[in-house]
Amino acid sequence: MNILTFIQESDKNTKDVIKLVRRKGTVSRVDLASEMDIPKPTMTRIINKLIKNQILRESGLAESTGGRRPVLLEVNKDCAYSFGIDLGRKEVSVALINIHGDLVSLRNKVTSEQDTIGSLVSFIESATKDILSEQDVSASKLLGVGVGMPGPLNKMSEEASPHDFYGAENLPLRTMLEDALSLPVTIDNDANVALLAEKWFGKASGLQQVIYIYSDVGVGCGILMNGEIYRGMYGEAGEIGHSIIDVHGDRCECGKYGCLETFTSIKAIALRAEKKRKAAGNHVASKPAHFSQVIDDLNEGEPIARETAEEVAQYLGIAVVNVIQSFDPELVIIGGQFGQSHPVVVEKVSEVVRRNTHKKNTYKAEITTSELQNSIVLGGAALVINHAFLHKQTM
Ligand SMILES: [Zn+2]
Repeated sequence: MNILTFIQESDKNTKDVIKLVRRKGTVSRVDLASEMDIPKPTMTRIINKLIKNQILRESGLAESTGGRRPVLLEVNKDCAYSFGIDLGRKEVSVALINIHGDLVSLRNKVTSEQDTIGSLVSFIESATKDILSEQDVSASKLLGVGVGMPGPLNKMSEEASPHDFYGAENLPLRTMLEDALSLPVTIDNDANVALLAEKWFGKASGLQQVIYIYSDVGVGCGILMNGEIYRGMYGEAGEIGHSIIDVHGDRCECGKYGCLETFTSIKAIALRAEKKRKAAGNHVASKPAHFSQVIDDLNEGEPIARETAEEVAQYLGIAVVNVIQSFDPELVIIGGQFGQSHPVVVEKVSEVVRRNTHKKNTYKAEITTSELQNSIVLGGAALVINHAFLHKQTM
């Protein structure tokens, strides 16, 4: 049995049963029936079919509520796998991930100026083959390949043209990867896949209106609207990194002036810290600034790094205020290399939001930090799972 065909050809109730059992971890038949409003004979038929196909399995007994202890069901973690790929500007990671979101195997390549899209596709091809043979996973258990990468990605033309990305312009990446891997490939921008990782494996599980702020090399925003990713007409919704927050600001890489990224990109953060060190007459200023050094200093409690992080988080906070007022979400998750670097980021963002959201009682969004590691590879896998279960074209 091919797992992808099985899921795609299943009816909505069957898909919903798999999704609910997966989300709950373990659940009894009685609890499942009471949550899903499906007639008992239908539920029995669905569960029997899923057990026969080794998608669900019985996993022990629940606590007794008087009477016989009910048998618990769980999703068989070996029934389906996906490849999640983080196609970044400095690194490429390929991970095999099971349906529970466990990272089974990971291959990583630090890229150089000599790399081209062609050399990266070759790396991805050999990494996926190596992992499959090492883990002895049959191709019939693969749902597909999901890629997270910097935007913008144009869903109408299925072409990717991120700034400064291995010389790529109008890149037919999905076709290139599908030809190389002989597997279905789905691509989305890094903020959207990080949000999907939260929806399937993290803090957005079971929620409907969620914003994910991906504060990393650049800044993007994933929007979960009524439980689905909102992509806009041309697939470019949520590109908040290039929203202008200072009309007199510095020139951005996109050509405009005063974009959010001119304050919050990791390059901007390193430069801000360097300026402060120079102003303080600190000798370290003679060396070029590095983002990772700023974060190391921040975690050691160094005052200039702390001041830098607080100022940058303040700009990020203003962007979060604008997003909250546009979408009125129930939860805002802050992630990415800067977003997850230190608790001061979410503290400062929350403070700015509290101070600036219009009519304090109108917006009640909780603001939190992502706790997922490897968000983009996990999100690539989540993109594939989402695609398989929903029949939705993402790109
Ligand atoms: Zn810009």
